[in-house]
Formats: sequence, C-alpha cells, structure tokens
Amino acid sequence: MKVARFHAPGDLRIEDAPEPQAGPGELKIRVRNCSTCGTDAKIFRYGHHHIRPPRVMGHEIAGEVVGTGARVQVIAAIPCGTCPECRRGRLTVCPRQESMGYHYDGGFAEYVVVPAKVLAVNGVNTVPDGVGFAEASVAEPLACVLNGQSLAGVGPGDDVVVMGAGPIGCLHVRLARARGASRVFLVDVNADRLAMAAALVRPDAVIDSDAVGQVLKLTGGRGADVVIIAAASGAAQEQAVRMAARQGRVSFFGGLPKDDPVIALDANLVHYRELTIVGANGSSPAHNAEALRLVAEGAVVVSDLITHRLPLPRVLDGIDLVSTGKAIKVTIEP
Ligand SMILES: [Zn+2]
Ligand SMILES: [Zn+2]
Repeated sequence: MKVARFHAPGDLRIEDAPEPQAGPGELKIRVRNCSTCGTDAKIFRYGHHHIRPPRVMGHEIAGEVVGTGARVQVIAAIPCGTCPECRRGRLTVCPRQESMGYHYDGGFAEYVVVPAKVLAVNGVNTVPDGVGFAEASVAEPLACVLNGQSLAGVGPGDDVVVMGAGPIGCLHVRLARARGASRVFLVDVNADRLAMAAALVRPDAVIDSDAVGQVLKLTGGRGADVVIIAAASGAAQEQAVRMAARQGRVSFFGGLPKDDPVIALDANLVHYRELTIVGANGSSPAHNAEALRLVAEGAVVVSDLITHRLPLPRVLDGIDLVSTGKAIKVTIEP
C-alpha cells in the first residue's frame, strides 16, 4: 500500500509499505479520508518531540473497518485512562497521552491499525448516516474546538472574537454560533485568508488590523466576552487580554513556538476586570463523539470548509496549501 512517511524535518516521502495487520484487540481500517491541519505543516517543517521517525503521519482519520465495513472516525489524542488526571475525568491533560500519527502510524495510508488502547477509551466512533468520511475526519479538530469553547464558557449572548482565520478559526466561528453567541468577529493579519474564510463562515465583522481598537469600537467600548486565539502568535495573545470585556474569558487555543513561548501582559487588566485565561490541549474521546453528533445534526456545518480533496501522493501539496493559507481544509483520500 502507499503511505506518506515522515523521515526528518522537510523529508516526507510517499512510499510503498506492506499492509499492516491488526493484532489481538486492534482494529484495521481502510482509510477513506485523513485531513491535514496546521500541525501537519509544523511537523513536516520542524519535526515533533513525540515523533521518532520514520513515522506515517496523519491524525484526522475516518474510514471503514476491514471485515465489518463499519464506518468509523478515530480519535487522535489517546489518554491512558488510568492516571490521576484521567481518573478525575481530565482526559485532555493526561500526562501519558499518546497520539495517532505520532506514537503510532497514522492515516496518510491506505490502511491504519488502531491500537487496543484507543478502543479501551472508546476512541472509535460510528459515523452517523448522512455524514461523509471527509466530514467525519473533521470531527477531530472540531472536538478540539469544542474542548476550547467549553473551557472558555462560550454561551448565549456572548460577543466572541476569533483570532486566526484558518480551519480552526472557521470551526470556532461556526461552533460559537451553534452555542448561541450573539456576535462573532473574525481577525486575521492575512487579508486574503480572512476574506476566503469570511465568505464561508460569515462573521459579523472582519478585522485585519488594529484588532484591539476595532473590537472596542464594535462593542461600544465594552470589549468581547470571549476571545479565542487560534493562531501561534504571542502578539495576538497580548492583544486578546486588552480587548476582553469585564469578566471576559481568553482562550490560548493555539500554542506558541517552543523557542518563543513568553509573552507580556498587563496583570492589572486580569485582576481588575476579573478575566479568566484558559488553555486548550486537544480533545477527549467524548469530545470527538459530541463533535460527530454536532456535524450529523447540522448544528456545525463542516462540508463547505473542505476546500481541497487530494489523493495520497499529493500530501505535500496539501501541506503546502495549508501552510500558505490558500486552503481552508485539505483532506487526503488514500
Ligand atoms: Zn489536526
Ligand atoms: Zn491518563
């Protein structure tokens, strides 16, 4: 079978590989869609401390179980299920978390074997009728977005700012609406990407410069109830704190580059305005199931966010489309 295997930063190869075989307690899946995201672009360029190459990449996986033909979606982040955090129900911050496409071969392949520990945490979801494989593969990033918005308490009546108009930013806009947000503003410094995203997700306003000033203006000086930073930008995080309303919540949804993770913020804004700053680290199996349900019910539409469908040998083109911001969501069809 064909796979896309990561060997070193900048070195991702399309190779022939033997079909993997499922061991006891494992599941072999014929991959129908494995979507790409910013993380794949980051791995391709810099590698990842959890990836010991060579490794088949791809973590947004949907396909058919070999043998039964069941249509399924697979989680990416695998909590251990037994550590103190997992036992407290905090599965997204399991310190022993592993991931498909990192610790195990992923979905940029015709077949993938799902490890037993994924099944042990209910990490394989049945794709509801009427939901395509490409949409189902987007349940994984949507699950991460769901985790972020539940931690940030996005709810009815909120004015929400989403910083970053990539695929994750688009999902944030859609989910915020589904959760009853009153207005959603979308910010990006890349005007082309912002226009492409806005044409799809129709925010109440777009902002491509002076984000703090514009948000204050749009909210009559009040600021935003929730600000979500879906971009690897310390500057955006600093701005977010300055544009948050009193008792506002700020979600540091995207991580910063490993070598530049320190920002400066006015602690008195946090203190006097009673701000809450929350992180977000992936998603739990339950978030994946909930994301699939939201897609199936039409509460969060994702099909139109899939702008490109490419065969496996064009994975590198897909990653390039993602990193240059020329696509919203690129899905690979092995
Ligand atoms: Zn992803
Ligand atoms: Zn754990």
